[in-house]
Amino acid sequence: MSDAVSYQLKDGVGVITVNNPPVNALGQAVRAGLKECLDKGLADAGAQALVVMGAGRTFPAGADIREFGKPPQDPNLGDVIDAYENSDKLVVAAIHGTALGGGLELALGCDYRVAVKSGAVGLPEVKLGLLPGAGGTQRLPRLIGPQGALEVITSGNPVKAPKAKEMGIIDAVIGDDLESEAIAYANKLVADGAPRRRICDMEAKAESATVFEDFEKGLQKKARGFLAPFHCVKAVNAAVELPFRDGLKRERELFQELMESSQSRAQRHVFFAEREVAKVPGVDKDTPKRDIKSVGIVGAGTMGGGIAMNFVNVGIPVVIKEVKQDALDKGIAIIRKNYENTAKKGRISMDDVEKRMSLVTPTLDYDDFKDVDLVIEAVFESMEVKKDVFGTLDRVCKPGAMLATNTSTLDVNKIAEFTSRPQDVMGMHFFSPANVMKLLENVRGEKTADEVVATVMDISKRIGKVGVCVGVCDGFVGNRMLHKRQAEAVDLVTEGASPQQVDKVIYDLGFPMGPFAMSDLAGLDVGYRIREERRKAGDPDAQEMNWLDKLAADGRYGQKTMAGVYRYEEGDRTPKPDPEADKVIEAYRKEKEVTTREVSDQEILERCMYVMVNEGAKILEEGIAARALDIDIIWIYGYGFPVYRGGTMFWADEVGLKEIHGRVQQFHKDLGGDQWKPAALLERLANEGKGFHDQ
Ligand code: NAD
Repeated sequence: MSDAVSYQLKDGVGVITVNNPPVNALGQAVRAGLKECLDKGLADAGAQALVVMGAGRTFPAGADIREFGKPPQDPNLGDVIDAYENSDKLVVAAIHGTALGGGLELALGCDYRVAVKSGAVGLPEVKLGLLPGAGGTQRLPRLIGPQGALEVITSGNPVKAPKAKEMGIIDAVIGDDLESEAIAYANKLVADGAPRRRICDMEAKAESATVFEDFEKGLQKKARGFLAPFHCVKAVNAAVELPFRDGLKRERELFQELMESSQSRAQRHVFFAEREVAKVPGVDKDTPKRDIKSVGIVGAGTMGGGIAMNFVNVGIPVVIKEVKQDALDKGIAIIRKNYENTAKKGRISMDDVEKRMSLVTPTLDYDDFKDVDLVIEAVFESMEVKKDVFGTLDRVCKPGAMLATNTSTLDVNKIAEFTSRPQDVMGMHFFSPANVMKLLENVRGEKTADEVVATVMDISKRIGKVGVCVGVCDGFVGNRMLHKRQAEAVDLVTEGASPQQVDKVIYDLGFPMGPFAMSDLAGLDVGYRIREERRKAGDPDAQEMNWLDKLAADGRYGQKTMAGVYRYEEGDRTPKPDPEADKVIEAYRKEKEVTTREVSDQEILERCMYVMVNEGAKILEEGIAARALDIDIIWIYGYGFPVYRGGTMFWADEVGLKEIHGRVQQFHKDLGGDQWKPAALLERLANEGKGFHDQ
């Protein structure tokens, strides 16, 4: 018998315990062990009932995803669950930790389910672009009705024990002594003559005639573009329409379709990439980390306030510094208002608001930074100002305190040189709004110590961000690629496309919005000011004024002025086409003597996306990003790249690098420009028939 599952008779109950740390994943050995122990329990005359549970920290928390994509090994989970369901002894699943995916499906094969209060159940397969494929879509709707099952299965979110009891997923919340409570529960069932409860014998009744239709309508908005949630709906529908065995067959077909889909490949890639990204190549995982018990923030503007909230939310006190009292008061008031709004929505209490505010110390004096472990600078984007700030920080902060900058465009190596401790300096590039956006580009300078990198990556996780380590270059990874796409989008409009057409192509690919809706949201003035400064300074590399800059020069800054590339109506953020903006575009075309042409959607897609892929390849060549997966995660968490396409570089691999390389070469020939010069890495991989992720 395998060690992964054990059987023991206790107080008249046969206890089957899964012991496969860390999460009791349902790999082959566990599946085989579950079957063997069931047979043992059935043969054991002393056992009046059976309990199945997990050792260590959890009930089985899902399939062993390392087995994905490999030939299936017997016994399959569905057969094991069938055996539990059809056993002639009553079985109780006793849940602690998280009964997820195959774990909950196993529990659904039992007659009764109990859980400790802190336990949770869920079917998260949808998050990997899949559906529960071991009967979950057939049993859950039979147990709790289609509406509840649809919510659990299409969201993939875990349900805490008390709520699960309310929904009918579990039968009782038991005390914390899992094993003895479960045995007592099973013995009581037997004593009470409780009936067997095979879910396969139950009927799934739709709550209303339109439950599936209505649910799908809601999903169109929430899960636009995703395949798996809609397949989940189809599978649950089968539980209502088909007998149990036929329903299982339908579930299997739908599962297979998803398993072979590009979307699930992409979502599984993202799942692994998200874990992988935390490991920085070259930085040993045992590198010591510095203790961060308090944080200083310079600047209480748009970014500073949001950055502060991230630390406060996890109980780390912050000191925020401003130059003038009114700016400080304003910044602190915004933080308070944000928390009060969260409280109004019922997500935190008013007490929590006060507790959090008590962790914020406003100051005008650098001396208050003398004890902090980390300072994050978020002042104006000017090298002069940063020089002054970092010089002062270096003087006042204790030895070993780390100094980070939130700059978007300035050279982190130069900033580090303003201090006597460049090894302690790093970029922490938050995205706006900083308390909401999950991405944190952690910029490693030439001299940054491994220990500082490891600490910054660690603290990113502690504050709930996905930290990605990148190197120093203009725009780092995300914005460097974004700028290429933006320039291409602007050119496409100059050549004859409309902003709406360009935006629609990118939106239809799965982004939350197109490039122009995005620039209206971010504010056209931001980029315009930077370019204008460069033009005024006579920078030979300065971009000439294009139609987008002309809109900004006219005071059309986007949503904040109710007009940018589009126009906006009071209280409505929907971009509407604006003839006034079109006139500016038309005038620019005339000025440039452009003969407009019809631009195809395919060309828009290729130019906007392939230019980013080519730039991403250059970023990899230069070592600015260590792996293609780092770029993927940056685009998913920083820019809303559709998860089901796996990130920019994964998407490129799915399209095929040979195809992309060919088009890049062609654009280089037709349009010229450095951005279209094929990256050597792209060329090599295309010739070798490889992808960015096969290296
Ligand atoms: P902001 O103008 O809203 O805030 C800057 C604040 O810093 C102001 O309140 C100013 O009074 C204060 N300040 C200036 N000098 C100071 C000093 N010596 N000591 C203390 N406070 C000082 O700017 P922001 O949008 O918050 O940007 C801050 C930094 O974050 C910039 O480097 C910017 O490039 C970067 N950034 C901004 C965004 C964004 O979307 N806004 C995104 C990522 C990074």
